[in-house]
Amino acid sequence: MLQTFHTRLTHKEKFTPDVYLFKFLCINPDIIRFEAGQYVILQVPQPGGEVKKKLYSIFSPPTEMKTFDLVVKLVQNGIGSTYLSSLQLGDEVIFDGPAGIFTLKEEGKHNGRDKVFIATGTGIAPARSMILEHLKKHPDERFILLWGVPKEEDVYFYDEWKKLHDENPNFNFIVFLSRAVAVSKPDHFMLGRVNKGIDELHTKFGKPTGGTYADLDVYIAGDRDIVESIRQYLLALGADPLHVVTEKFV
Ligand SMILES: Cc1cc2nc3c(=O)[nH]c(=O)nc-3n(C[C@H](O)[C@H](O)[C@H](O)COP(=O)(O)OP(=O)(O)OC[C@H]3O[C@@H](n4cnc5c(N)ncnc54)[C@H](O)[C@@H]3O)c2cc1C
Repeated sequence: MLQTFHTRLTHKEKFTPDVYLFKFLCINPDIIRFEAGQYVILQVPQPGGEVKKKLYSIFSPPTEMKTFDLVVKLVQNGIGSTYLSSLQLGDEVIFDGPAGIFTLKEEGKHNGRDKVFIATGTGIAPARSMILEHLKKHPDERFILLWGVPKEEDVYFYDEWKKLHDENPNFNFIVFLSRAVAVSKPDHFMLGRVNKGIDELHTKFGKPTGGTYADLDVYIAGDRDIVESIRQYLLALGADPLHVVTEKFV
């Protein structure tokens, strides 16, 4: 059942030219329990007392229960993103939630299958929450992140991803830059669309445990059209439809 959360904005940071990080402190109730990968529903107050609702995946892991973080792309004249970007520290904001079934499936939590997270833009939010939550619990399973953004300036938390990789031999990541012409970190940045990562999955990271695309658990999040095209691409390569889970943002 959904709960209503009264929160206060405690941190706001411009990550890239059009993506903000927001941290909300839970006031009433004072903690939030959610599953990694779930979203909250923002209440956007409108003139006349009406409320519009917008969905945002939680970027932070469930271990942080007193606060939760969101990463939000600013959309020109967008109701939800403009409201969020206009908030000042200390402002009260109301959410409903948590909700959503884009989470590691119960049987998928420890099934020996490689877990591949494919994110476009702010689709990184549920992927980060799931990776931070589950990686250390499953040192015997491989976790791979393929993240697509336009340019290097659109990458955030690179140092965190790199540290996570250095500390966990079972985690690897590549950021795909669709509109760049060169990369500064060849180990973890590649030119091209994130689909290229699917082609190079085996060459970059070795054969999946089991050997084929059907042996992967894949979690895809971000822009609706891109998520669907990636899903279709994976299915054509032999991925198991029951093991390809999607979260379509718009
Ligand atoms: C389950 C779920 C989780 C989500 N999680 C996140 C998240 O973590 N971070 C995040 O930033 N968003 C997320 N979204 C998308 C979010 O809910 C809003 O759709 C998004 O913020 C745009 O809403 P808005 O009110 O600002 O724009 P709207 O008022 O809905 O749209 C204004 C105009 O912009 C266009 N538009 C809308 N979105 C885009 C876009 N992305 N790019 C270009 N044009 C656009 C619309 O067609 C419209 O013309 C999620 C959506 C879902 C369904």
